[in-house]
Amino acid sequence: MNNSNLIFDRSFVDGKWIAIGASKFDIVNPANGQKIKSVNDGGVAISEKAIGVAFEAFQGWKKTTAKFRATLLEKWHNLILDNTEGLAEIMTLECGKPLKESKGEVSYGAAFVKWFAEEGKRTYGDVIPPHTENRRLVVIKQAVGVVGAITPWNFPLAMITRKVAPALAAGCTVVLRPAEETPLTALAIAHLASIAGFPPGVFNVIIGKDASAMGKVLCESEKVKKISFTGSTRVGHLLMSQSASTLKKLSLELGGNAPFIVFEDANIDMAVEGTIVSKFRNSGQTCVCVNRVIVHEKIYEKFSQKLKKAISKLKVGNGMEEEVNIGPLINKDALKKVNDFVEDAILKGGEVLLGGKRIGECFFEPTLISNANLEMNFSKEEIFGPIIPLYKFSNDEEAIKMANNTVYGLASYFFSENVTRCWRVAEALEYGMVGINEGLISTELAPFGGIKFSGQGREGSKYGMDDYLDIKYMCFGNII
Ligand code: NAP
Repeated sequence: MNNSNLIFDRSFVDGKWIAIGASKFDIVNPANGQKIKSVNDGGVAISEKAIGVAFEAFQGWKKTTAKFRATLLEKWHNLILDNTEGLAEIMTLECGKPLKESKGEVSYGAAFVKWFAEEGKRTYGDVIPPHTENRRLVVIKQAVGVVGAITPWNFPLAMITRKVAPALAAGCTVVLRPAEETPLTALAIAHLASIAGFPPGVFNVIIGKDASAMGKVLCESEKVKKISFTGSTRVGHLLMSQSASTLKKLSLELGGNAPFIVFEDANIDMAVEGTIVSKFRNSGQTCVCVNRVIVHEKIYEKFSQKLKKAISKLKVGNGMEEEVNIGPLINKDALKKVNDFVEDAILKGGEVLLGGKRIGECFFEPTLISNANLEMNFSKEEIFGPIIPLYKFSNDEEAIKMANNTVYGLASYFFSENVTRCWRVAEALEYGMVGINEGLISTELAPFGGIKFSGQGREGSKYGMDDYLDIKYMCFGNII
């Protein structure tokens, strides 16, 4: 274990490790149910304290230069990469993803810190040609204030840096509440931020079991000017309504139900590989995972046989073991939900081509289901597990209609070798992101985010700064 110097058991507020009361809760390894650590349950009290501290810290932090903030972000970025092994182990222990995926997440998450260190220096304003001779019109951008960030367990590091790095680069201070299941990674990177030299109170991490009470405090506080949330659409709705009384800015990165269309002119081997890399990352527990594979009837048989063969090579097991491709699901509820999807599909005419069963208490077989139809529950809901349903179509219009037939609008994918079709279909898909002949689309360089019930706002890219900045227009008059 390379991580003992990175494990903490209480909230990080005002540059100090703070426990409130004696109440604790356990962080459990989803691969075997064993306790990793007990951590302090700071609840509402730590949330209120952190908001006050972040508000005070904002008064000084907002006056620092973007260049100064960039030097601290660069140091933080380097420290995260220097601690790749330790951070990856913590992630695999608390969320179960295979160690090689955790290492990939460390470099992916760190890349946002570097990107926003650079981008913060480019938050240019504008000089607008005036409408009268004696006026001058100028636009500047300013930090919105204290940001409340709430993140999920499935990317315990990258979902944090995608929010915290642009917020800090813009001159905001942050109160972060990570998921109950994965606070250890969050605390470890807060420790590294403190070593990098961020002043006390600028980046605070609050730990507690009661997500709903802690979230309410963040949403209803007048000192918090923005909520940035990644998680389910259900909770996104709730946070939006709770934030109404204080008219907060909101960034919402919510659930998805990604279609993956394979046209008759697709390169089938590439499409199979694209399906595998998109579907099975983190055991199918990512918001951009393929949810519905929609295949042209002419190649349906060939594609499904090749896909079956590729899936049968995947190894399921404890993410700490070498060669494991698919780790556990996060908890028993997740396992039951995935199992229910399979049972529902069988009842409604689905044929299980591969897998379909639990393995012990923690794992689920990678599963391929043929003859999927729109009545099946996974046609409407996010699967969040290692199941691939196969649907059949006969023309482009039908495929596009099936793909758009969901309330979600996060990621979508399709494979075709015809450039005209590629443009036409990409423009017709009602999604924030489209992978064309590609199953892996996330990078800090591009805008990540959705439309419809998948949320609002973008993370990463030049657009990722906008969510943490207010625009101010200044009119200089009487210039004679
Ligand atoms: P979730 O239940 O919505 O939880 C997400 C976060 O919100 C966790 O920290 C959770 O805390 C917290 N939370 C739960 N109820 C809350 C409340 N009433 N008030 C304030 N915070 C609350 O989602 P999940 O099932 O853990 O995560 C998976 C979901 O996230 C999927 O739908 C996935 O698609 C989505 N996701 C989206 C993106 C994206 O970029 N669009 C990326 C990753 C994941 P506790 O864990 O302590 O309950």
